[in-house]
Amino acid sequence: MERKLTCIICPLGCELTVQTEGKNVVDVKGNTCPRGKVYAENECTNPQRTITSTVRCSDGGLVSVKTDKPIPKEKMLECMAVINETVAELPISIGDVIVDDVFGSKIVATQNKA
Ligand code: SF4
Repeated sequence: MERKLTCIICPLGCELTVQTEGKNVVDVKGNTCPRGKVYAENECTNPQRTITSTVRCSDGGLVSVKTDKPIPKEKMLECMAVINETVAELPISIGDVIVDDVFGSKIVATQNKA
């Protein structure tokens, strides 16, 4: 089976053509560097995403957050449900852990808030 992907690893955005047999990637074309091949293989076998969002704070405001590492793509909605039901206590500093374990990742603050 042939699949077309756009590599999102760097701004060049190479158009990749990936050949798969079952769950295996057998060929990748269009990548300008080796990272594109790794991206295509991961995207076809175990797609992952870093989530960026906001969490409600105890003062009613919002603080920006992200997962500290990518999570499985199919867990994105469940991760967002956890983020949406979380209320963070102030003060918050960049890097503070807001939720300790969401599918193997931590939800961390990406801004300071007093
Ligand atoms: S294949 Fe390499 S050069 Fe092309 S977008 Fe991906 S990382 Fe960038």
